[in-house]
Amino acid sequence: MKDESVVLIVDDVASNVEVLANILKDEYQIKIAQSGEKAIELALRAPLPDIILLDIEMPSMDGFEVLKALRGNSVTKDIPVIFVTSHDATAQEEKGLQEGAVDYITKPIRPIIVKARIKTHLIIKEQRDELVYAASHDQLTGLYNRHHLNEEGGRKFSRALRYQDRLSVIMLDIDHFKKINDTYGHLVGDNVLREVSVLFNTHKRNEDFASRFGGEEFVILLDNCALEDAVYKAEIIRKSIESLMPENILVTASFGVAELSYAHSNFEELLKDADTALYEAKESGRNKVVAFYE
Ligand code: GH3
Ligand code: MG
Ligand code: MG
Ligand code: MG
Repeated sequence: MKDESVVLIVDDVASNVEVLANILKDEYQIKIAQSGEKAIELALRAPLPDIILLDIEMPSMDGFEVLKALRGNSVTKDIPVIFVTSHDATAQEEKGLQEGAVDYITKPIRPIIVKARIKTHLIIKEQRDELVYAASHDQLTGLYNRHHLNEEGGRKFSRALRYQDRLSVIMLDIDHFKKINDTYGHLVGDNVLREVSVLFNTHKRNEDFASRFGGEEFVILLDNCALEDAVYKAEIIRKSIESLMPENILVTASFGVAELSYAHSNFEELLKDADTALYEAKESGRNKVVAFYE
């Protein structure tokens, strides 16, 4: 688990808050809210809570309403919530679990049970976060993987069509990479891939999206970017790869660039045009940028 997880305690009664805070303060960073409204405010403010202990019965906004609001916000929707209920509140417990709480604990508070439940759910949360990360990232380079490119590309494609925004794609492939492997070995080849991929995040804007498409092929998506600007950007990356000298080896790459147009009915078709341009760059001498024109 990370060094100090953050627990948000929500209860309208000060003495209840105090009991929980005293049990947890040595192991966790504690945030406290004494109303539902305050709970939502604190759940959205850094440091974001890793877990929330939520009292159900509170004046004005009760625990169910708070849970619903948390689930409806993309920042807080995955934070595990444990309901804190009165001893005779079976119906409330059922409702809480149905509406998305991960667990409940009953008052009066028993310290060992509270600690154990919190630890369990923090571990589950951390494991789930790791799985989500692994499913969308490439292990070698840390860039997004192809699966995630396809998902994000599909989303960006639809959004750009809907709002008539521009969307461009850069596809690049390292030149004669097989020769690098054959000459220096696979491990050196891996390091070359790692070093080159760092460049994609160096030259990108926040909204740009860099991914490893396959072995030594990469795809960068550029929101609100016209073909000429994407070509310009590809040219900057091409030059920076050429002067990078990873592992003291002269490495170059070829680039294909395409922009979303009415001719595309899905993201794959846009990618295909970038791939066609990339093929042309390879055929016409490598270490160059070629744009796809209809
Ligand atoms: P071209 O200029 O036409 O692109 O030639 P190339 O040699 O780069 O292309 P080719 O497709 O023939 O070879 C790609 C090589 O990339 C073959 C494969 O072994 C290597 N490769 C793919 N993934 C990895 C990887 O993760 N690590 C290493 N070291 N090599 C990889
Ligand atoms: Mg209460
Ligand atoms: Mg290739
Ligand atoms: Mg290649």
